[in-house]
Amino acid sequence: MEFNKKTKRELKKLLKYKYAWVIILIIIIVRLIPRFKFNSTEGFNTGMGPVFIYYIDVGQADSTLITSEFGNILIDGGENETENELLSFIKSKGVTTLDYVVATHPHTDHIGGLDKIINSLDVKNILMTNGLSDTTTYEKFLTSIKNKKIMPTLAKANSFFQLGELEFTILNPVNNNYENLNNYSISLKMNYKGRSFLFTGDAETEAENEILGLNQNISADVYKAGHHGSSTSTSDNFLEAVNPHAVIISCGANNPYGHPHKETIEKLNGTQVYRTDLLGTIKLETDGYRVIINDEPLKL
Ligand SMILES: [Zn+2]
Repeated sequence: MEFNKKTKRELKKLLKYKYAWVIILIIIIVRLIPRFKFNSTEGFNTGMGPVFIYYIDVGQADSTLITSEFGNILIDGGENETENELLSFIKSKGVTTLDYVVATHPHTDHIGGLDKIINSLDVKNILMTNGLSDTTTYEKFLTSIKNKKIMPTLAKANSFFQLGELEFTILNPVNNNYENLNNYSISLKMNYKGRSFLFTGDAETEAENEILGLNQNISADVYKAGHHGSSTSTSDNFLEAVNPHAVIISCGANNPYGHPHKETIEKLNGTQVYRTDLLGTIKLETDGYRVIINDEPLKL
């Protein structure tokens, strides 16, 4: 009898431990679940952000708006003709302050609407280059900066700036005299937690090679194809170094340049491609780990 009682007691103790292990196991599993969810592409509620990138449909031109709880950035402002729509779009996202306006280079399809934006919104910083143009559009852009008494910053490769948790590396211009204005294009890599996004304006192969020469890490989850998908950009070595999961192309339907070029589309075979001429404005959102493009999770 004694022995049995003792054994029972021991057994109970053992069972207690067993349950303890079960409980520990349950705790471990429960703790791991968010990690699995983290990589899962399902069950993510869109509209959460907190970082949104809008590749705005401005026809055969360029304009990208980044909004976040850390601040807002506008990269380029499309042509002059779409400036009112652009301003309405930016306002519709609740944006009244732009922490940075980036004028990648002085071509009208990039700076056309910027005078309107600078005149209408609270703009804190302007990033530009010393690539010059003699168009009225460029003059109006300069006048708007002067009127608002903003001291613009000349972008230089290998410099950095930060907006809250958004980290930016400037990759171009590397030089300050290019024959081709496109090569002045301010190129930016934005990092947010574990995700990265690359914007290269209309930088062409010459500038891309110089960017590669910087020996910076230019790999990016999402790459906005240079020069509207032209074959003069997205050179093989550059694309290999960027190695994107998704590519965005901003161009107008039936544009006279044939953008995006067949060669570019062919070399992007196997990569998710989103085109503003086919889809209109493209909305991307990220929490720094997951990336959702047009409400569909991007496979990473
Ligand atoms: Zn352009």
